[in-house]
Amino acid sequence: MLQASPGNIWPRMTELATPGRNRDVLMPDRTKPLVDTFQRPITYLRLSVTDRCDLRCSYCMPEQMEFLPRREVLTLEELHELACGFIDRGVTKLRITGGEPLVRRDIVDLFAALGRRIGEGLQELTLTTNATQLAKHADALAKAGVRRVNVSLDTLDRAKFAELTRRDVLPQVLDGIAAAKNAGLQVKLNAVALKGINERELPELIAWAHGQQHDVTLIEVMPLGEVEEDRVDHYLPLTQVREVLDQRWTLTDNVHSTGGPARYVDIAETGGRLGFITPLTNNFCAGCNRLRVTATGQLYPCLGGGERVDLRAALRSEDPAGNLESALNEAMVIKPEKHHFRIDQRGADPALSRHMSMTGG
Ligand code: SAM
Ligand code: SF4
Repeated sequence: MLQASPGNIWPRMTELATPGRNRDVLMPDRTKPLVDTFQRPITYLRLSVTDRCDLRCSYCMPEQMEFLPRREVLTLEELHELACGFIDRGVTKLRITGGEPLVRRDIVDLFAALGRRIGEGLQELTLTTNATQLAKHADALAKAGVRRVNVSLDTLDRAKFAELTRRDVLPQVLDGIAAAKNAGLQVKLNAVALKGINERELPELIAWAHGQQHDVTLIEVMPLGEVEEDRVDHYLPLTQVREVLDQRWTLTDNVHSTGGPARYVDIAETGGRLGFITPLTNNFCAGCNRLRVTATGQLYPCLGGGERVDLRAALRSEDPAGNLESALNEAMVIKPEKHHFRIDQRGADPALSRHMSMTGG
């Protein structure tokens, strides 16, 4: 595990991470679990550490994406403080995301510090990444206590990858995935199913992943944020994909759950597991246990909603503990029952102007 040395760039965070230190000074009512008005216990936080990214996936963001000024983004110390606040209120699973989390400078220091909370309220520390920087960081992540990583990979075809992400870096991504495996991390691949882009290739992608002992989850594209294309043109309902896969392989429903929205099947022929995340064709909100916080500390209780609570203001106020407690309580009150995505009309505005890279995937 990375040791924070005296004179560390963020001594306060080091102090916070020291076992036995009384975090009550900063953290409010540690005994009050987060439960929303629909009686859903909230135990899962997706924390975005940057809105920046080294790729430009065409369904996610435009080539000329405008990123936030750095001063608006929480410091690593603030991110740590915030995450600990959630853990103290009963969050047991923490996923670091973005933008691309591994492009943020010194991000492994944050993982190392948060890793010290594993077994101290936190059960799992994980991340979602595009894997371009994973080869560099896999060992440090494993040392920090990360056991599983979600890697987004939509195609194994180099030219198509370059076109879809607007960057020709598939070999780097595959190296990252291999390095993660070598470091002992369990890799799950996420692929957005895209009509006319990776549609035909999905069986091959799944077979390859299962051959490498990686689970795969397919995702329906969601109408979040303006991009150059009309997402309707590439929206592929996973009900259709499943029909195609059913003709090719033997799919058996699996009750496996990671506490997320995916529904799983086992594929007899590949020996692997496949998940389906179907925000459009099958709403999965009833069991939602999660919150999302952007890199600027804006808490969105629903990926598909505009409801928001400003945690940065709470953190930077005169009374961070009290204001953070109030803010989290407010989030419980405003968390909606479900999202209302639709993706059936050409030329329609996205359901939300916020990109997925902002809220964190
Ligand atoms: N950059 C990292 C990555 O790509 O894994 C983490 C952030 S990215 C926003 C998280 C996930 O969101 C990725 O799996 C990506 O494919 C997915 N995603 C982005 N925009 C999406 C959209 N409009 N609809 C569905 N999934 C989307
Ligand atoms: Fe970057 Fe992830 Fe969005 Fe692709 S999906 S542009 S890798 S944030």
